[in-house]
Amino acid sequence: MGTYLGLALRGPLAAIFPHHEGLTALRRDLHAHPEIGFEEHRTAALVAERMRDFGIEVHTGIGKTGVVGVIHGEKNASGRSLALRADMDALPMTEENEFAHCSTKPGFMHGCGHDGHTTMLVGAAQYLARTRRFDGTVYLIFQPGEEGYAGAKAMIDDGLFDRFPAEEVYAMHNWPPLPAGQIGLNSGPMMSSADRVEITICGKGGHGAHPHLAIDPIVVAAHIITAAQSIVSRNVAPLDNAVLSLCSMQAGSPGAFSVVPREAKLIGTVRTSKIDTQELVERRITELVESTARAFGAEATVVYERIYPATINHALQAQFAGDVAAELVGEDNVVRNLPPSMGAEDFSFMLQAKPGCYLRLGQGGGPSDCFLHNSRYDFNDAIIPLGAAFFSALAERRMPLSGPQAAREPR
Ligand code: ZN
Repeated sequence: MGTYLGLALRGPLAAIFPHHEGLTALRRDLHAHPEIGFEEHRTAALVAERMRDFGIEVHTGIGKTGVVGVIHGEKNASGRSLALRADMDALPMTEENEFAHCSTKPGFMHGCGHDGHTTMLVGAAQYLARTRRFDGTVYLIFQPGEEGYAGAKAMIDDGLFDRFPAEEVYAMHNWPPLPAGQIGLNSGPMMSSADRVEITICGKGGHGAHPHLAIDPIVVAAHIITAAQSIVSRNVAPLDNAVLSLCSMQAGSPGAFSVVPREAKLIGTVRTSKIDTQELVERRITELVESTARAFGAEATVVYERIYPATINHALQAQFAGDVAAELVGEDNVVRNLPPSMGAEDFSFMLQAKPGCYLRLGQGGGPSDCFLHNSRYDFNDAIIPLGAAFFSALAERRMPLSGPQAAREPR
């Protein structure tokens, strides 16, 4: 038995490993042709074509550019079903790498490794379609627009789970801080919600030399900025997660040094891991802004938009996915209590609709030792067989041919 990443080649890993070179070529082709949210026409067509070649039933145009493949197992006595999801989109950023497969489209780059996620799910599709060693149905979800476009929600709104009624849903994201060959997860919040807050302060414009005749919105903004820092430090429980960052401030004109403006605007983001905390921060910022403005004789409004919810794993599915990961890479290489990240992910919408689990697939920092969204980032091709085997093992272990009963409860 050979080894790969220090792992024994057996099960799906042994069957997928011989395709490593072909899958790497696909990944690099996708990397060279990045497409951003809802423009993944080439990527979607390529994925659909590959799946048709494998004999898989393919559905396109779900949530604009989303693609779904359906694989029926050797048996369907269990009536069970499971969905595996990969995101396909790139970022509007300029790549600074110089290797042969770097972006051919200036200003666009696969800076988050979604090219790798797509490839790993294609690898799983190929294996599962050939072996069909499971009792039930697998839905392969190739999702558009994860990077701020809520592509997951677009697919759900377009009837994804009505047409493909998966009982559970799983996804993974490459993770540079974890070494290749390790898998990380936890049984609760994996990522935060991402909210946008816009504060408009309305005072009374006037002359900078005669401030008593004006109501200065900049002074009000300064007090609001300072007071807002007390929400996380004084209102949110110390062991809970929350971030409030006011990242933009606009008022007055750089040329008008003696004009008190009428209006000031603050824009920022709120990140939380729990709905209760999200509600608390939204309520507190609204109270604080309105009452601080009133204290200075000004008026202020808060527009609070919930963009992505928190990505929260379901305990049973996290336990199951952790067990499958341990079978594949060994318990020592599974980080079961990975701390949550304050980033956000639209797989959260799928986890609100279905029980499931989101995992981190270790890939190390790569040659340029950088994190996601860095202009020198690249997906580590070494982990493609592992990711594809892990997707496949989730399906085989959840819906084993040995009998539906065994799959009912997580191991
Ligand atoms: Zn990403």
